[in-house]
Amino acid sequence: MKRSINSRVSSSIAVIVLLTVAIISFLSNYFINRQFTEYIARQMELKTQVITSSLGGQYNTFTRQWDLHYINAIGMTSLYEGYIIKVYDADGNTLWDAQAHDMSLCKIIMEDISERMRIKYPQLEGEFISTKDSLYRGDKNIGSVSISYFGPFFLNENDFRFLKELNTILITIGVAALILSIIAGYLLAKRLSKPILNTVEATKQIADGNYEIRLDEETNTRELDMLTGSINHLAASLQNLEMLRKQLTADVAHELRTPISILQSHMEAMMDGIWQPTNERLQSCYDETVRIGKLVNDLDKLAKIESENIKLEKSDIRLTELINKIIISFEKELSDKKLVARITGPDARIRADGDRITQVMVNLFSNAIKYSKEEGEILFEILENNDQTGFVLRDNGIGIPEEEIPYIFERFYRADKSRNRLTGGSGIGLTIVKSIVEAHGGTVKAESKLNEGSSFTVLLPKK
Ligand code: ADP
Repeated sequence: MKRSINSRVSSSIAVIVLLTVAIISFLSNYFINRQFTEYIARQMELKTQVITSSLGGQYNTFTRQWDLHYINAIGMTSLYEGYIIKVYDADGNTLWDAQAHDMSLCKIIMEDISERMRIKYPQLEGEFISTKDSLYRGDKNIGSVSISYFGPFFLNENDFRFLKELNTILITIGVAALILSIIAGYLLAKRLSKPILNTVEATKQIADGNYEIRLDEETNTRELDMLTGSINHLAASLQNLEMLRKQLTADVAHELRTPISILQSHMEAMMDGIWQPTNERLQSCYDETVRIGKLVNDLDKLAKIESENIKLEKSDIRLTELINKIIISFEKELSDKKLVARITGPDARIRADGDRITQVMVNLFSNAIKYSKEEGEILFEILENNDQTGFVLRDNGIGIPEEEIPYIFERFYRADKSRNRLTGGSGIGLTIVKSIVEAHGGTVKAESKLNEGSSFTVLLPKK
């Protein structure tokens, strides 16, 4: 089953924290316990020393008497702390014996300690052991003491309480860290998933055709910002494409409307007998069908070039040879307008699709002829540098208004519409030029001055 980012992130964080807390508790417990038992062992050693020295202090060297009252006090205090003592004088007579003093209390205390230690340290296998120490007053041996305690070490009630509190503190910290981490994980996951969910919602809307939608929420996560950025970019591109598609349909309709309505009205007039079908009138109808045919043809060519899988059949082409052929094919048009066409520059070769590059030159050359004045000059200048080969086509014709130059490569764009109906242009020629050149990885650029002439530069990469 697929899980949400929310549950994935929070559960991962919870597991990590749980593991960390468990490891920390285990380690701290282990180390604290080890330190603590060492500490206890030292304390016990110290305690037996204290017992021995304070017992030694109860002997009066002048009277040679023991202060039995204090010995009793020391014995009882030690008993409560888990040390069962028996004090002898120098002759070995018993001065004080905890078990003789209060047998039942000793039993209770011993059992108590054994029980607690067995529960807390089951592997310790401890038992009561006895040590016997001599008692001194100065250098003089004045007696001895036998001390029994639970060995190798034992914890008294205070020690147990201390350990228990330490454990409680550790568990509390662990639980608090766990709760905090779950909350933090939940909040983090929510912050991560919210922009993703917004993006999902936006893509759904884009899929439904709402291209105006934009995600404007700034997150502080770079990848998420990149994601929303790409979605916005996608929406903008689709919006642009949609606009172009609508524009194209409207443009095609617009381009077809004029010739078709001319045809319709002329033919209606002839069918209704209002007009005689003279040769002239039939010729004008024919011209309109030619215009429609040319438009459809151009659109078809453009569609083929713009289709993504355009396959270029590249070969090495000698530019002068190709240009010469084109000039010859336009001989009639050139002589009709008394135009001169020339070629200059090196005889360079280009690597390109021959048919398509011919199309580029034909479109540019026919424009140059169309927009030249009588007795004008058209010049093909071949260019070559380290990385590029190409040509400039110059004419000294009517030129293009400066503000219109940026648009002439767009579909159906015709500078100065009125003059174009006369020249029969559809406004697609340069769009085809640009598409072909770009399919070759090259560039095309136009420069022009109104009434002085225009130049079109085409450059293709050598590799
Ligand atoms: P068309 O079929 O109308 O010539 P193009 O796409 O070939 O369409 O050209 C777009 C417009 O650019 C033309 O309508 C014309 O106004 C302008 N143009 C193109 N080439 C030239 C040129 N050599 N001299 C002047 N104007 C030109």
